[in-house]
This record gives sequence, C-alpha cells and structure tokens, in this order.
Amino acid sequence: MNNIRDWIREPARDIKVAARADVVVVGGGPAGFSAALAAARNGADTILLERYNHLGGLASGGMVLVLDDMWDSHLGEISVRGNCMKLLERMDGMGLAAYPRQNEWGKDPAMYQRWARWGTFDFNTTTQPHPIIFAAAFDPDAWKRASLEMVQEHKIKLRLHSWYSQTLVEDGKVKGVICDSKSGREAILGDVVIDATGDLDVAASAGAQHISGNYIVTTVFRLGGVDTDAAEAWEREEPEAFAALDRQIKKVLGGSWGFWWLKTPLPGIVWCNCPHMAGLDGLKVEDLTRAEMLGRKHIHALVDLVRAKLPGFEKCVVIDVAPQTGVRQTRLLEGDYVLTKDDLAARTRFDDSIARGRDYYMPYRVLLPQKIDNLLVAGRHFSVTSQAQKISREIPPCMAMGEAAGVAAALALNAGVTVRNVDVRAVQKALRTQGADPGDQTGRNPDVPELARALAVRPEILETV
Ligand SMILES: Cc1cc2nc3c(=O)[nH]c(=O)nc-3n(C[C@H](O)[C@H](O)[C@H](O)COP(=O)(O)OP(=O)(O)OC[C@H]3O[C@@H](n4cnc5c(N)ncnc54)[C@H](O)[C@@H]3O)c2cc1C
Repeated sequence: MNNIRDWIREPARDIKVAARADVVVVGGGPAGFSAALAAARNGADTILLERYNHLGGLASGGMVLVLDDMWDSHLGEISVRGNCMKLLERMDGMGLAAYPRQNEWGKDPAMYQRWARWGTFDFNTTTQPHPIIFAAAFDPDAWKRASLEMVQEHKIKLRLHSWYSQTLVEDGKVKGVICDSKSGREAILGDVVIDATGDLDVAASAGAQHISGNYIVTTVFRLGGVDTDAAEAWEREEPEAFAALDRQIKKVLGGSWGFWWLKTPLPGIVWCNCPHMAGLDGLKVEDLTRAEMLGRKHIHALVDLVRAKLPGFEKCVVIDVAPQTGVRQTRLLEGDYVLTKDDLAARTRFDDSIARGRDYYMPYRVLLPQKIDNLLVAGRHFSVTSQAQKISREIPPCMAMGEAAGVAAALALNAGVTVRNVDVRAVQKALRTQGADPGDQTGRNPDVPELARALAVRPEILETV
C-alpha cells in the first residue's frame, strides 16, 4: 500500500513518431540554435526542439542581455565569431544592439565612462578603470526575431512548445527523443542528437556520466521609465552618496553583480542582473517556484527604494521579470575530457580545439559523453568542473560549442562514422570556412567579413578622442 502512495507505475503505451531527421537538437538556447544552424548549413536535415514559444534560452527568455567572454585579453582580439557574430550583425541591423567599436577599446577613462553602464568592459581585470573590450548589449526580442529568421533561412524544422521528456537509447546508441506537448506524447527520431538543454536532460536520461553542480539563481528583470543620463551624472558627481546608496540597494537585493543595472538598446529601459539567490537547485520544481516568489519580493522592495532615493529612477516601473528563471548551473557532463580551472588559467591549447571563450580553449572531447554513441552535448552543461563552469559558460562560448557540435554531427553523418570518430581536423576546417574560430591555430585570427561592422571605427569618436 505504501508503495502505491509513493510510486506509481506508468502504463506502457505506443506513441506516434511525429518526425525524424539526420540531426535532432534539443533546446533552442544559444548553444542549440547555433548547433542547428551549423548542422543545417553543412547539409544535415535538422530538427530543433524547444519547450517555450521562442528561441534564445537564457539570452532572450532569461533576459541576459550582454554577450561577453568573446574577447581574448592576452591576444587583444575577438575570440568568438561565426554564428554568434552573424546573429549580432542581424540584431545590429535592426538597431537593437550596442557595442564599442575598435577605436573605443582600451583603457581610456572617457571610453569607460561612455560604456561602463552597457557592461562592455573587462570586469576580470583589477585595472581601474576597467578596459573597454568587445562585448555587446542587445534586445531580447531582437534575438527572438533574428533567430527565427535565421532558422527559417536554413530550412530547419522548428518545433516550439515541445517539452523533451525522455531519450530513446538502443545498445548504447541514441535513436531519438520523446516530447510532450499539446499534441500529446510523441517520438522524434534522429541519427545524431545534440543535447542543448543547459541542464543535460537528454544525456542524463541516456545514462551519461555527470556531476551535480550548483550556483546562484537570479530572477532577472527590466525597469522602464529610467532617466539613465541623470543616474549616470549623479553617480559621477556624487561618488560618496552614490556608494552609500548602492550599498543599501545591494542589501535590499540580497545579492547582485557590481553593476545592478545596465543600459539596453531601448531608451529608458534598463536590465537588472539581480537579485541573486543561493542554495536553490535549478532541477527542483519547489526551488524554481521559490525563486520566483523570493525574487519578486526583492525586486519590489528595490523599486520602492530607488523610486524614493536614486536620481533618474524616480518614475521607474517594472517592465518584466524574465520568463525563464536565471539558472546558471545544474548537471555537468563528465565526458571524454573534463575542462578544469587550471586549463582556463593556463590557456591550455588542445589538438582537438573546437571553440574559444574569453581567454580559454575547448577541446572536442568536452562535447562527447562517455560510452554513448550518436549523442553530443553543447552549452552550459558541457564537460567541465563546477568551478570552471562558473567562468566559462557565457553565451558566446556556448554558441561556439553549439556551432562545433552541429558541424561535427553533419560531417560524421556525411562520412558514415559516429560523432566520436569524426575527423576533428575536418570539423576545425569547416568551422573556419564558415567564419568561426575553433582555436586550433596559434597567433591572432584574421579579419573576416562579418566582423567588418564590429571593427569599423565610429567617426564621431575619432573626432572627440
Ligand atoms: C542571471 C544570469 C546572468 C548571466 N549573465 C551573462 C552575461 O552577462 N553574459 C553572458 O554571455 N552570459 C551570461 N550568463 C550565462 C548564459 O546566459 C548561459 O550560460 C547561456 O545562455 C547558456 O546557453 P545554453 O544554450 O547552454 O543554455 P540555455 O540558455 O539555458 O538554453 C537552454 C534551452 O533549452 C531549452 N530546454 C531546456 N530543457 C528543455 C526541455 N526539457 N525540453 C525542451 N527544451 C528545453 C530551454 O528552454 C532553453 O531554450 C548568465 C546566466 C544567468 C542565469
């Protein structure tokens, strides 16, 4: 009787095969979107599955609105290009991205003043002011629009509103996945499956070895009606009063990044990468629910305080709280290679390098689960230690990993080999051909056309600097 109360046996049943393709990508966040583009571009018939009504994952639904970790501070060059840059170019074309141009990078205090509240500086350095680097602010709906356009152009079969629930495995080989949706429970079959769920859902269900990581959770939000010029002027002119109030604000928030608000391409609207909450598990429904309740309490206490005390914020209103909860780390793959903090610090180079991040390189093996075939993993749940993931999981490197996984899947299928046995040199070459930087060559990278706008100098800055 006790057993019946605690556990129920689900009846077995036949379910429809709703679709099949060469490559099935699960999760339409930065990594999954990029993987699907790359697989399709290299000739694979590709399905992209996403549980929500939009693409972008934490970048759009989670309203994480700065692309960073795409700058190599040792070589002084952009380290993540390819799909990430193509998407940025498109959002820029919509007038919904902002980033410093080449003649604005560096340690000029005037440039710091201009760009600090966009979050496009190197916060990993101790230098004051922090150097301005290549990083980009963007609008979440621009991401959704641009990525949907690109998915259609690449003829990817997109299935939104599809909640992945189980991996189909036969003799150690992944055959596809099961999804739940308004259409019911259905199977989607693929020759290669790419897990881009961020939480390793697909690989864990397939029995892949992994660890349980944990990090702070954040309910990101945006405020509108902010006079950002007035706020910045007060911060500049009254540094002591600013510092005192900033301390008070952070107490109310309970946890926040140094700059609790940053500008967005929409005038008067700022994004707030806070409040941070510790001790919550992004895989537990109870904790995710608690995060929403606790987060909103902090947010509204903050609004009361800044309306009363912070110049520029007197008339601010909450525009939205991110529909996707800000979970940074849950399960992490223990794949063929586990990237460590020492690798990041030492800038370890790998023969099978397929992606770069801030000042680090990633080998193909971090995408490969042990002992399971036809499965690749790309995104924040890649094979990495918990400590190292905290500093190597930003949007651009996740897109770079996704791009590599997509290329590898397509090339493996073309060559009739498993993804474990794919020719990594051919993957690196294909990545370079399509404008990505796998990090397999030493020295500075050559300029490529899609960087032209990013690198182009701003004439008005030349006049004033
Ligand atoms: C609060 C916060 C602040 C951050 N700040 C920055 C920053 O300033 N700059 C930066 O570059 N990075 C930042 N990051 C990190 C970055 O946002 C993530 O690491 C990155 O988005 C990971 O991309 P991903 O594609 O691996 O995963 P995600 O963005 O999590 O995407 C996973 C996708 O899979 C889908 N999915 C998951 N499970 C299922 C399922 N069962 N069925 C179907 N679909 C599913 C999700 O809906 C989502 O679309 C921040 C993260 C957080 C949480």
